[in-house]
Amino acid sequence: MDCLFCKIIAGEIPSNKVYEDEVVYAFRDIYPQAPTHILVVPKAHIGSVHEINEENADTVAHIFTVIPKIAKAEGLANGYRIISNIGKDGCQSVKHLHFHILGGKQLSDNMG
Ligand code: AMP
Repeated sequence: MDCLFCKIIAGEIPSNKVYEDEVVYAFRDIYPQAPTHILVVPKAHIGSVHEINEENADTVAHIFTVIPKIAKAEGLANGYRIISNIGKDGCQSVKHLHFHILGGKQLSDNMG
């Protein structure tokens, strides 16, 4: 499968890793949109939030235990934002489920 994030997880494309375990890989976004901009992705290929189901829900639940650990390690005590873009209207550019962690400044209240 020709998937950018699968290649990053496999180490075929370099990345700036911030966290890794058996299920999850997290790395800094190459085009940061905030002082802290990290992508948290499952190692197993899931296309987007739209493909979450009963079979892979444990993986997603695990991701959401990792996100606060990363945020705490990054010092985001004032808060942060989690974004997952889905499909064309959601402007998803990489078709591998990922959650953006954005923080390190006061973010815009415009989400649309
Ligand atoms: P999305 O538009 O929600 O699919 O997010 C994809 C994200 O991947 C964007 O924020 C890109 O900046 C980021 N990105 C693309 N290529 C790389 C890369 N090689 N390393 C790190 N982040 C990347």
